[in-house]
Amino acid sequence: MYSVALEGVTKRYPGGGAEPVIALDAVDFAVEPGEFVAVVGPSGSGKSTLLNVLGLLDDPTDGRRLLSGTDVTDLSVEERTTARKESIGFVFQDFHLLPTLTAVENVSLPTAFDPGDASDRAAALLDRFGLGDRLDHEPNELSGGQKQRVAIARSLINDPDVLLADEPTGNLDTDTGESILAEFERVRSEGVAVIAVTHDALVEQYADRVVELTDGVVVGGIPGGDDDVDGENAAGNGNDAPDNTGSGDDTPDNADSGDDTPDNADSGDDTTDNADSNGDAPGLFGDPSSTPRGDAE
Ligand code: ADP
Ligand code: MG
Repeated sequence: MYSVALEGVTKRYPGGGAEPVIALDAVDFAVEPGEFVAVVGPSGSGKSTLLNVLGLLDDPTDGRRLLSGTDVTDLSVEERTTARKESIGFVFQDFHLLPTLTAVENVSLPTAFDPGDASDRAAALLDRFGLGDRLDHEPNELSGGQKQRVAIARSLINDPDVLLADEPTGNLDTDTGESILAEFERVRSEGVAVIAVTHDALVEQYADRVVELTDGVVVGGIPGGDDDVDGENAAGNGNDAPDNTGSGDDTPDNADSGDDTPDNADSGDDTTDNADSNGDAPGLFGDPSSTPRGDAE
């Protein structure tokens, strides 16, 4: 089962009287547990929109969205907040740290309404990122790279299934960038699906798969290179083409090798998916005008 998947997702923004902007155009996209996907494309191609839709921060205009096999296309505000909190870590391009909170408080923030105190876990995460001596520093007392690492620590505080990062190594020196990528590797090896928007060739080197976006159209969105978003033919049946054809220096792609029993287990109960995928007709998922929009958040 995919950690996160989009089936035929279109995202249109009103054009302010002009033509609407099609930020995502019938996108099929899926990421397996433990897979690290880099999303590349020119400015304005829809990368941030893709992350926002994957991260339940914005809703598709059309199409279907799944989180660990559960349809999360249309959720109430409460359901969406809960699903996001339980399943998704988000590293924003400009960090979104609260300036009056310390590093530990910023990392703990997603747990603010939970019983108990997450300070110890937050401190442990910060320590893991080399910030053990910066726990009580506020963002303006931290460098760009340090703020970035606080933001990544915060994204992990609730043990997400999916980690979404917008330019996670942007503005970082190479060493800091590499330490963050090493951390993504580690998170990935724990079964988290990591999706990073990037312009950084280093990220592409670390990634299992590079997905290209151009004018809202995705190339390479599905593991194994087929376009079967339901996953019956996705990695796991042993005869897929290697993910990174042509490059001899990839880290071994454990996600695609011998440990695929979850996929096999999954394939037994796919009849409902098959039923769904018959209906590619537009409008199957409802009138776009009735789709709740998340823009108010
Ligand atoms: P990228 O992250 O690849 O630079 P974006 O996803 O931010 O691209 O934007 C894709 C397209 O959608 C662009 O044409 C952008 O202007 C438009 N867009 C993004 N967000 C909005 C919005 N909230 N309202 C209207 N248009 C938007
Ligand atoms: Mg962007």
